[in-house]
Amino acid sequence: MTSQEIRQKFLDYFKSKDHLIVPSAPIVLKDDPTLMFSNSGMTQFKDFFLGYKTPTAPRIADTQKCLRVSGKHNDLDDVGRDTYHHTMFEMLGNWSFGDYFKKDAIAFAWELLTEVFGIPKENLYVTIFEGDASENLERDQDAYDFWKSHISEDRIINGNKKDNFWEMGESGPCGPCSEIHVDLRTEEEKAKVSGLELVNNDHPQVVEVWNLVFMEFNRKADKSLEKLPAQHVDTGMGFERLCMALQGKSSNYDTDVFTPLIAKVEELSGKKYTGVLENEKDIAIRVVVDHIRAVAFAIADGQLPSSGGAGYVIRRILRRGISYSYRFLDMKEPFLYKLVAVLQEQMGRFFPELEKQGTLVTEVIKSEEESFLKTIETGLIRVEKLIQQTIADNQKVLPTLEVFELYDTYGFPDDLTRIIAEEKGLTIDEEGFKAEKKKQQERSKADSAQKVYDWVTLEEKEENFVGYDTIESETYIT
Ligand code: ATP
Ligand code: MG
Ligand code: MG
Ligand code: MG
Repeated sequence: MTSQEIRQKFLDYFKSKDHLIVPSAPIVLKDDPTLMFSNSGMTQFKDFFLGYKTPTAPRIADTQKCLRVSGKHNDLDDVGRDTYHHTMFEMLGNWSFGDYFKKDAIAFAWELLTEVFGIPKENLYVTIFEGDASENLERDQDAYDFWKSHISEDRIINGNKKDNFWEMGESGPCGPCSEIHVDLRTEEEKAKVSGLELVNNDHPQVVEVWNLVFMEFNRKADKSLEKLPAQHVDTGMGFERLCMALQGKSSNYDTDVFTPLIAKVEELSGKKYTGVLENEKDIAIRVVVDHIRAVAFAIADGQLPSSGGAGYVIRRILRRGISYSYRFLDMKEPFLYKLVAVLQEQMGRFFPELEKQGTLVTEVIKSEEESFLKTIETGLIRVEKLIQQTIADNQKVLPTLEVFELYDTYGFPDDLTRIIAEEKGLTIDEEGFKAEKKKQQERSKADSAQKVYDWVTLEEKEENFVGYDTIESETYIT
């Protein structure tokens, strides 16, 4: 099954269960004071849950373009180094606004995965909320009982508040969740360790695919929980991970979501992708094909790279891609812009904004590449000098102020400084670097004491809102 067919099957399934199918909201949020980018499917429905708007339908399903590089969800450091976290990814989702609840949400998810998509039941595990005494929250027995009718009890795992109680703001709707994990290891691997032990344990072939959130509480301003008058369902499934499971692959990058992009990088660079986890060239190729999607979709949705706010985040993602390909793929000339046509070919039918904005996207990326390539050489020379000086001084840690200057003044990605230093047996002072970043943000922002959440209630907004930049200022990617 191709990825296009998989996406369509998901939507068709929920359509057949009376869901209204809606388009993805833009990946860039223009009118949300708390968030720069959509980072989950529910972003566009926040006001339905908060009761500020009436839902357009009681049941909705879609695929949402998400970006997790800032705020509460920041996966950037994992991207390229693992095989299942992306900056930009699609989150397939179905929602019930005061309509069906746990029983149907679980039944739909199970039927879709095992019957429509045919994932063998013995490859699936689920988690449920184990309860939390400090909050007087009980174990999610209902979810357990509903799961029990589909899956054997030894595959239902208790999860703690961190993984299995969904809460995105200081107040507002929240509730327990149930995750579905798929075990894609070979039979031989499975014989060695039980999949049970690997769930939520960073194993690249035992991954979370779907999260079903049951919103049944409201967290009040005084932090106490009350039962909501109506109960809602909010689910999110990682599209690229689902494709990996259905296409029998062991990495998202081996699915047809990424293979055409990888083929183009191979053609342009003359380097072969071998899919090895710790190989620098392979990491660089994964970084490049991941980052081009994030940057292309952001620009197509109207966010140009720039020196502040969301534009700065996009510029840094692009620069990270350029640095990796410069260093590990020997690409010294602009080439990322050539991947846009491949992406368009592959995703333009479903996401027409890519078709419409293709020329702009290509040109913007090309000119960003040209200008950054001019400074990267200078950056590399500076890092090299810094390293020599540190070694000559008999030190093991690069001087923090210089490392920060490279990052701040020269726009040189700090993870690259880190990698180069490590190659020479040196490190950077992480705490000191963080402190410098914080100081810099404090210099340019009035007050960055705000916590970062994915939503705030109107009450909180009136009390606390001090501006968009401030709220996300702690979250600039590095
Ligand atoms: P993980 O534990 O793997 O980081 P998560 O619990 O943070 O995932 P959720 O917030 O529950 O993820 O999002 C719902 C689904 O979206 C996940 O089950 C997963 O399939 C997918 N997903 C989450 N983050 C990413 C990412 N960075 N790249 C690709 N898919 C993702
Ligand atoms: Mg995560
Ligand atoms: Mg998780
Ligand atoms: Mg989750």
